[in-house]
Amino acid sequence: MELIPQPKSRFLRVKCSDCGNEQVMFGSASTSVNCLVCGKTIAKPRGGKANILTKIVAVLE
Ligand SMILES: [Zn+2]
Repeated sequence: MELIPQPKSRFLRVKCSDCGNEQVMFGSASTSVNCLVCGKTIAKPRGGKANILTKIVAVLE
């Protein structure tokens, strides 16, 4: 029986390009992520990985 390794989950600290709000989001988000302050879409799911539409400030392990 073969075990399928789970991809390492990462959290990303992103900065909204519209209002400058920084927030932490899951790097493999399967749903769209909106800015908590202004509601701008900052990430969209793409092939099991989040397609980040704004600036990534840091990658958290
Ligand atoms: Zn914003």
